[in-house]
Amino acid sequence: MTNTLCSLPWLHLFVDGMGHFNNCCLGPSADGFSRDSDGETILAGQPNAIRRHWNSSLMQEIRKSMHEGTKHKSCDGCWRIEDTGSESYRISANRDFLVPKEIQNKISVDPMIRWVDLRFGNLCNLACRMCLPYSSKKLFTEYELMYGPQSTEKYKNMTWYESEHFWDELFQYSDYFERIHLAGGEPLLIKDCWKFLRKIASENKSKNINLSYNTNLTRIPAEAKELWPKFKGIILLVSMDGIGKINEFIRYPQKWSDIESNLWELEDKFKEYNIQVCQIQPTIQAYNIHHIPDYCDYVAKFKNIKRIPNFNLLFGPEHFSPSVLPRSYREDAVGKIENYIQKVESGWNSYEERDKNSLIISLKGVIKYILSEDRPELLHEFIRHNDIYDTHRNQKILEYIPELEVVYRK
Ligand code: SF4
Repeated sequence: MTNTLCSLPWLHLFVDGMGHFNNCCLGPSADGFSRDSDGETILAGQPNAIRRHWNSSLMQEIRKSMHEGTKHKSCDGCWRIEDTGSESYRISANRDFLVPKEIQNKISVDPMIRWVDLRFGNLCNLACRMCLPYSSKKLFTEYELMYGPQSTEKYKNMTWYESEHFWDELFQYSDYFERIHLAGGEPLLIKDCWKFLRKIASENKSKNINLSYNTNLTRIPAEAKELWPKFKGIILLVSMDGIGKINEFIRYPQKWSDIESNLWELEDKFKEYNIQVCQIQPTIQAYNIHHIPDYCDYVAKFKNIKRIPNFNLLFGPEHFSPSVLPRSYREDAVGKIENYIQKVESGWNSYEERDKNSLIISLKGVIKYILSEDRPELLHEFIRHNDIYDTHRNQKILEYIPELEVVYRK
């Protein structure tokens, strides 16, 4: 076995928000999609799209290069992570999935799909400030104000998941499924997906499958209570970017009372919903760096839901990164986090040892991220975007995040 091998190209199906196929979620966009021999991009929902993608020249090239011990450019995401000494997606995938011996040496293989990862288009009920029209069509109007009427055109038909062809073809391979990951847009809103999950359950295929979601948890549809217990287990990563009105400001038009009551619904009925893991996930961005300790304290109140957050670091759009803000503002935020780390070290919130260590490591990573770069040249773009949002949403940033006064009105 070469040390460039990854199990995913032999057993993993990935579809992005536009319906393109790729090796996995780290595969490059734009020119890196699976194409037919005539160069046409294969799209989810076309006849036999999954089968055509599975042995497309892209997938065969990736498998071949892994066998030859070379690093294919589609896997740059993993190589970059491994260069920093961290664990890549490749390493964790190899730990979780072995490629069966009979296909290990083959470049062209029949689809034996064990792990499905579907990124539904941009059907979402929120318009989060740091998000993009690629992920939420609710941002169209504001993006058109910022970048002109044509700027959202290419995101207007991201509805590949409405194709019955796609679901029928996917179902053909469902005997092998062990893991299905769903993200959006907002995956809990996709009716076609619930229909597919119901079919999987009704044919007794669901008990071997772990189902995971990235969700905004604005709604828990009735299907969740009905269908989730029929699967092996449910893993939820819940996006929430602040506590109370900061969350309402960033994740417009979410009501804090809604997400809070849904979190407690899951906390209280963890077993009933068949949840294995539920973790709350903030995207660290220019808006919320002064509130990270409050966030950790809030999350620590739960017992079934993980008591520590899973920090997601924003790298784009760049003008919403903390690096656009003055260094002194960020250093003040870092001071709050450092004080919090000291409190955690001396027993604050009575974290279990493993959680305590993991939280401290994550918070130190957040500090490094906050101070890693200086991008003052993007501050005007942050303010421009923010002003358009504030005007259009009838919100005022300083009523929600008064700390930003020192930078915002300069
Ligand atoms: S090596 Fe990394 S980028 Fe390549 S297929 Fe595996 S997980 Fe994806």
